[in-house]
Amino acid sequence: MEQFVKDQIKYGLKYLPSNLFKSLFIKKSSDETEKFRNREFICGICHAHEEYDLLHGANVKWLRSDVNFPFNEDGSVSLPFIHYKETIKRYSENGIKVMAVTPYPQDYLRYGADVRTPEGEKKVVEVTKFIFNELKDYVGGFQITNEMGMPRFTIPFTMDEAAKFIGIQLEALYPIRGDVLIGYNCAGPAADLHARMLPYLKYCDYVGIDIYIGCFGAMYQPMWLYNVLLNYLWAMTRKPILIQEFGYISGGYPKTKEEKKAILRQYGVESEKDAMTKMDVFVENLPEYFRNHVKHLAHNDPSRYYDLLFKSDLKDHLYCELPAVQKIPFCDHTPEGQARFYDKIFKRIFKKKFVCGAIVYMFDDTSRCYICGQSDCPIETKWGIVDRDKNPKPAYYSVKKAFAEIQGQ
Ligand SMILES: [Zn+2]
Repeated sequence: MEQFVKDQIKYGLKYLPSNLFKSLFIKKSSDETEKFRNREFICGICHAHEEYDLLHGANVKWLRSDVNFPFNEDGSVSLPFIHYKETIKRYSENGIKVMAVTPYPQDYLRYGADVRTPEGEKKVVEVTKFIFNELKDYVGGFQITNEMGMPRFTIPFTMDEAAKFIGIQLEALYPIRGDVLIGYNCAGPAADLHARMLPYLKYCDYVGIDIYIGCFGAMYQPMWLYNVLLNYLWAMTRKPILIQEFGYISGGYPKTKEEKKAILRQYGVESEKDAMTKMDVFVENLPEYFRNHVKHLAHNDPSRYYDLLFKSDLKDHLYCELPAVQKIPFCDHTPEGQARFYDKIFKRIFKKKFVCGAIVYMFDDTSRCYICGQSDCPIETKWGIVDRDKNPKPAYYSVKKAFAEIQGQ
């Protein structure tokens, strides 16, 4: 089993049940959460592309987007960063605040800013302050990097290094942040991250969580798991909780044995058992983008290929499928099921007084899965509330209605 998974289980057992129990007895809000909600309950969406009419039409007030790394190798300011700054300036002029996600460890490392050395640590802080000062007039908040604990974002850092990477950036921004919100996020419970972040919570305006109940992990996932995760995180951190990403896949179904066999044959094997003895060849036959991703996660160690492809969530990407049990009851993975999800979920989360915002994942359907690169993989291509041609899906109207109700309260 991967070390990341082992740590998640170990820390989950230590912190999740105890904090859930504690959540039954503690206050459900604080002065800090009340102040936050009186200012605004964040109604946001991820990854739009300046479709202002559609965004205003859905009552979206915040956009969450990734900041491009600001420097080239020679130290000059990068064009993608200049472009990013111009874009968020336009968002600001159009009345939409931006929740800017600062760059990932790999981006900093490519620039020689490595939190594992004293000089690198200084460089990380310098880059982060540069980003802040350049963007502070146009953003509403910063999320320091994204989902540490997820191997694809965290590697090559350990969790201790990842927490330090986040923590020193928050510490540097805290005294200069003014009205700009700062915090960090996690994927699911991630108790291993939050435990390491406890010393840095005093620098956070919020703690973010990404929740995708019913979309990952082949098991029965009732909607009340949202309550479980939110209550636990509130009890553990006592900070305003921001749902930085949440959503529901609007397509995908389980593949038949025959369909799976046909996929395996494409890559030169007859069965999963057959693949076990030929993993080198199998991985070399995968589409280039997928192959590179598997090699990155395996640190180029072929002995890890089998577990990655057949025992982790990459299996769904390999077969371009969603297992039958992987859903919230009564919310099918269809455009209608996705809309039903939004109809129900907003009421549930808005009731929790310590929750201070919710950012829908995401604006539009994409043409390729960003994990495996395949266009017919449902996992990362069907999250949009509008389709690839920007036509509103049923979920668009559910989100619009929910945001209107929240803003009217
Ligand atoms: Zn995929």
